[in-house]
Amino acid sequence: MAEHRDSQHFDYIIVGAGSAGCVLANRLTASGRHRVLLLEAGGHDRHMWIHIPLGFAKLFDNAKVNWLYSSEPEPELNNRRVIQPRGKVLGGSSSINGLLYIRGQHEDYDHWRQLGNTGWAFADVLPYFRRAEDQERGADDLHGAGGPLSVSDVCEPHPLCEAFIEAAQQAGIPRNDDFNGPRQEGAGYFQLTAKNGRRWSTAAGYLRQARKRPNLKVELNALATRILFSGRRATGIEYRQGEATRPAFADGEVILAGGAFNSPQLLQLSGLGPADLLRGHGIAVVADLPGVGCDLQDHLQIRMQFRCTEPITMNDVVNNWRHRYGAGLRYIMSRKGLLSIGAGYAGAFLRTRPELATPDVQIHFLIFSTETAGAALHPFSGFMASVCQLRPESRGFVRIKSDDPRVPPAIQPRYLSARNDCDTAVAGLTTLRQVMNQPVMRRLIAEERLPGENCVTAADLLAYARQTGTTVYHPTSTCRMGADPNAVVDERLRVRGFEGLRVIDASIMPTVVSGNTNAAAVMIGEKGADMVLQDAAAGAPMALSA
Ligand SMILES: Cc1cc2nc3c(=O)[nH]c(=O)nc-3n(C[C@H](O)[C@H](O)[C@H](O)COP(=O)(O)OP(=O)(O)OC[C@H]3O[C@@H](n4cnc5c(N)ncnc54)[C@H](O)[C@@H]3O)c2cc1C
Repeated sequence: MAEHRDSQHFDYIIVGAGSAGCVLANRLTASGRHRVLLLEAGGHDRHMWIHIPLGFAKLFDNAKVNWLYSSEPEPELNNRRVIQPRGKVLGGSSSINGLLYIRGQHEDYDHWRQLGNTGWAFADVLPYFRRAEDQERGADDLHGAGGPLSVSDVCEPHPLCEAFIEAAQQAGIPRNDDFNGPRQEGAGYFQLTAKNGRRWSTAAGYLRQARKRPNLKVELNALATRILFSGRRATGIEYRQGEATRPAFADGEVILAGGAFNSPQLLQLSGLGPADLLRGHGIAVVADLPGVGCDLQDHLQIRMQFRCTEPITMNDVVNNWRHRYGAGLRYIMSRKGLLSIGAGYAGAFLRTRPELATPDVQIHFLIFSTETAGAALHPFSGFMASVCQLRPESRGFVRIKSDDPRVPPAIQPRYLSARNDCDTAVAGLTTLRQVMNQPVMRRLIAEERLPGENCVTAADLLAYARQTGTTVYHPTSTCRMGADPNAVVDERLRVRGFEGLRVIDASIMPTVVSGNTNAAAVMIGEKGADMVLQDAAAGAPMALSA
């Protein structure tokens, strides 16, 4: 690639400095041979609560670091709108997420391969998980050590979690000390993407190091508004920074890493998407790609709330100034204690039906209780546990509502629109209740506050799910990888029918993984970077793959 060009010309332009984008920025600049522009719509990740793990709860409604999206009214959730937070800051959603490190099931990736995606079976993606990882427990066949993404055992044993894990065992769910080990099923503590009690976003793990390289240029508060084309070849990006609109040109590739809502939005704004939708907003159709923005998948969670018989919950700490300051002091002195925990403390992966091969439900067990995500803790001793179906069949969409890039797209996950998702929600709540009714847990429960003892039948539980269910923040698959006509990218993440254009982020997942999605997004960034570099080394002009 050329050594020197003017300030608007690069080898690669990456849109979005999120989980995958920061990985790409690091890997593509490592050799020093490629000049890379990284565009990020948000700003620096200096906000204090980004770095303190528990601070994620303070970022739900912070417009400085969060796009603050919301779904359209959800027909199967009594027409409620569901909040859809997304990171708008260096590190993207990895800077505001709940830090849980879960890769999903080996079978998820084998399924991707079965769908026709060569190179994406578990055996193929494992090296990328390992390369990314700096596992505190050390390396083994499934884990890596020394990689940029720190993974650690932050959670100290807690009496409520100990009781939950024991109750799960009494209910027939085995103990599992590594959800990313040979078997996902079981109950145990979560590991976090954290280092020495601090959040370890991809901005911390990958970008901080890469920003020291002269061949990486990072533009902040830079909203990519349009992909520039010469025929079927992507040649650059137009972006808005303050009042200015600027072009930047890529001799190599334009790589979209804007996440599951913004990557399809940018494609649609650029004329790639369902033709009728684009024409309806006065956008010239470059290619009628009906799959762009389709197949939105997300994990719905349904929370149970409990009053605790003992003052051992986080509510008791936060609501008492002495305990609160004690916890703050402990964090400052040792980086341990309540401020160092993430979105779940303990959890479980379980099968709601014995005939299933692998878990279909994840439980997040939380040692505090609130009315809604990010709200103040209850004034009483309380805790929660949520049920999340791992492989939802409901499919939604992301569609632009305007040709103005600043107008958020319509987001409609269509939660609980598939029969199996309703049945699994009910079965998951029933199984969770069985765990909570085990003697070791029962003695800590003063009251099942929600859904409550009057909620008994399957119809009651489903009605409760519809009334209270909310996202676990895992949207994927809106630029789905595949070989079928609706797939947006091929197995090398190239936008079908175009040259010099890839999507490399959570939007390419053929199906959402059975777990939290950050680790998979980082893996996709790692694998995607290799593909870009391999193609550059081969000198191959990117093939038209449609
Ligand atoms: C509140 C919350 C809690 C979560 N908890 C967990 C958890 O505990 N564990 C877990 O594994 N996963 C969790 N997730 C999910 C996980 O963080 C995401 O799946 C993952 O970060 C997605 O990575 P990505 O690279 O696809 O997108 P993102 O990380 O969202 O990055 C996209 C980036 O692109 C930028 N961008 C978008 N459009 C443009 C544009 N037009 N121009 C310039 N820049 C643009 C955005 O500002 C952002 O920085 C959570 C997510 C949220 C929001």
